[in-house]
Amino acid sequence: MLALNTPISDINFYCKKIAKRLKNLNLKTARDLLFYYPFRYEDWSKIKKIAELLPNEPSTVTVKIEQIKNFRSPRLHKKITEAIASDETGKIKVLWFNQWHIGTTLRPGDDVYLAAKMNENGELISPGYEKVKPRSEGRDANNEQAIQQPSTTGAHENTTHTGRIVPIYPLTKGLTQKHIRSAVKSALPFLDELTDYLPDEIKEKNNLTDLKNAILNIHFPASDMLRQGAARRLSFDELFFAQLKNLWMKYDLEKRAAAPVSFHKEETAKFVDNLPFKLTEAQRKAAWEILKDIEKPHPMNRLLDGDVGSGKTLVAALAMYNAALSKMQSALLAPTEILATQHYNTFCKLFNGSNIKIGLVTHSKKISNVKYQMSKEEIIINSDIIIGTHALIQDGIKFNNLALAVVDEQHRFGVEQRARLANGNTIFPHLLSMTATPIPRTLALISYGDLDLSILDQMPQGRKEIKTHVVAQAKRADAYNFIRQQIQVGRQAFVICPLIDESDKLGVKSVTEEYKKLNEQIFPEFQIGMLHGRQKSDEKDEIMRRFKNNEIKILVSTSVIEVGVDIPNATIMMIEGAERFGLAQLHQFRGRVGRGEHQSYCLLFPTDNATSRLKAMEKINNGFQLAEIDLQLRGPGKIYGIEQSGKLEFRLADTNNISLIKEAQDAAKNLFQNDPELKKYPYLKEYLDEKLEKIHLE
Ligand code: ADP
Ligand code: MG
Repeated sequence: MLALNTPISDINFYCKKIAKRLKNLNLKTARDLLFYYPFRYEDWSKIKKIAELLPNEPSTVTVKIEQIKNFRSPRLHKKITEAIASDETGKIKVLWFNQWHIGTTLRPGDDVYLAAKMNENGELISPGYEKVKPRSEGRDANNEQAIQQPSTTGAHENTTHTGRIVPIYPLTKGLTQKHIRSAVKSALPFLDELTDYLPDEIKEKNNLTDLKNAILNIHFPASDMLRQGAARRLSFDELFFAQLKNLWMKYDLEKRAAAPVSFHKEETAKFVDNLPFKLTEAQRKAAWEILKDIEKPHPMNRLLDGDVGSGKTLVAALAMYNAALSKMQSALLAPTEILATQHYNTFCKLFNGSNIKIGLVTHSKKISNVKYQMSKEEIIINSDIIIGTHALIQDGIKFNNLALAVVDEQHRFGVEQRARLANGNTIFPHLLSMTATPIPRTLALISYGDLDLSILDQMPQGRKEIKTHVVAQAKRADAYNFIRQQIQVGRQAFVICPLIDESDKLGVKSVTEEYKKLNEQIFPEFQIGMLHGRQKSDEKDEIMRRFKNNEIKILVSTSVIEVGVDIPNATIMMIEGAERFGLAQLHQFRGRVGRGEHQSYCLLFPTDNATSRLKAMEKINNGFQLAEIDLQLRGPGKIYGIEQSGKLEFRLADTNNISLIKEAQDAAKNLFQNDPELKKYPYLKEYLDEKLEKIHLE
């Protein structure tokens, strides 16, 4: 009776002891353990005799402990465990540091495996160890080696921590690799209960191993080839389900109704002709895609992705204009009040002289540039275009006839949030999400496959390129002088630091430290402000307002500073610890200057020496290209900085593996086309429902 949802504490006595700690890794059941993948491996599979050992070669020996003792080193008083071990070919000295428990765990006469690289003196330093299992039974449940022999591992070595390719897992406080490895090993018998959710024909067609073998070999592979096969199968699963989920969410939306917004060609052309500039080709194309999409009676779900300054707002405005011409409402949601107000002012100018009514809805009492003091409800009833913060959706607001919602600086907008905008209405609004985060195509394919994509990969003409320099430490004083000159002629500067507080991470700059230094030592003559995520939003808004009004000359900030805030007078973006950020993220910071008529500069300060990765910033000014470089160099998790990495659900799948992505995509498409409700595949449906459940809870 080995149910996969058996709590870890019921697996055996050993697991019971560490169950609480495993919970900190969100591991609660046998199934959780099986699906907790290692992130790398160490190869200790070379078994040797003592006489055969070569210096610096990773090997495992099977030896008998002759002597073992704990003592403190005479001078430094370090805790040392010293042993003499032997096999039929010779003896060897073994040393462990700060692990006195080994001196009592291992006794003279014990047969053990030791895994290490022998040093030049012919000693084994801090080897991994595990006792050779006695032939007779008689398990000692207190012992780490006392784990059940799994039925499925017939072909494998008996060892867990030595003498094999050894898995290395992500850890948390109070847990060691041995703990997790042993726990996972004791969960292996539960594999017999695991049903492979993937249909056989998909496995055959794509040459994939079955799930049981894949799980077994991702933890305890008998060879690197088996490990690769396991990783391929489990990566395929991740990509396949991501794809299936996307298809399912698209299918779900297509079943719903939306109000068709007709394309008013003449009025739109006239509006565009009256603009003080020409639309870029990219803007034209994106606007066309959007206008065609919202003509349909099913909700649009589209992402408008374009660099800072590429003119997304105007594209959105064209769609909102057409909604208004169709006598329907549209709403633009911004992440902060400042941005909402900025958009409101932009729209008031754009539609000045027309009879389209624009309303601003925010929580703040301070912002009162709404002409008439109306209540929120009145504003909404009386406006064609409503601008507000994301909070608009939380208020259970009733629109008259909302046809289109535009969400600024948010990639995703869930079905739930959309339902809330619809507010009981079965007609869903069309949705346009806008982001300045350049999402590489390969990543968009899998992570945002439920969205249609419009890309603005072209900047309006006449923009001055921002001059970017990676600055060596020796040039720091020069850089400060340059900033001083800029401020003296009236400009402003941003200084970005990776951390909030002084940290134990030597050399990494923090906002509070840097603020103090700049304020007291470097620029005592200028007003300096500080911004970080731990401040209250009122406080942050106030500081941004003062910066916008040119009261603050230098703003020291973490990465929290808002995307999209327009400070045309700021010409310097200085970034400390620049190597800690992704290129796409650096590019976004950079986009906060160069918004006015003045030449702007981006100064990158790496903690040590300039890395070649950062040098790319000097040459490349296109966010999509930078994101692709980062994707290749650092993987998807690091492109957007730590806070966003959780959004990528891939633990194994390599997002550069285009052929596997394609295979998974085709498999999902085929399956879905024939059977969108997955009636033929109940296990698959179950698994997918579980994933969708998680999305709804987000
Ligand atoms: P973002 O894509 O970052 O949201 P905005 O929509 O805020 O960019 O546009 C940035 C600035 O560029 C605005 O002042 C806008 O009026 C201007 N702009 C937009 N499109 C064009 C264009 N085709 N030519 C010149 N300026 C443009
Ligand atoms: Mg914008």
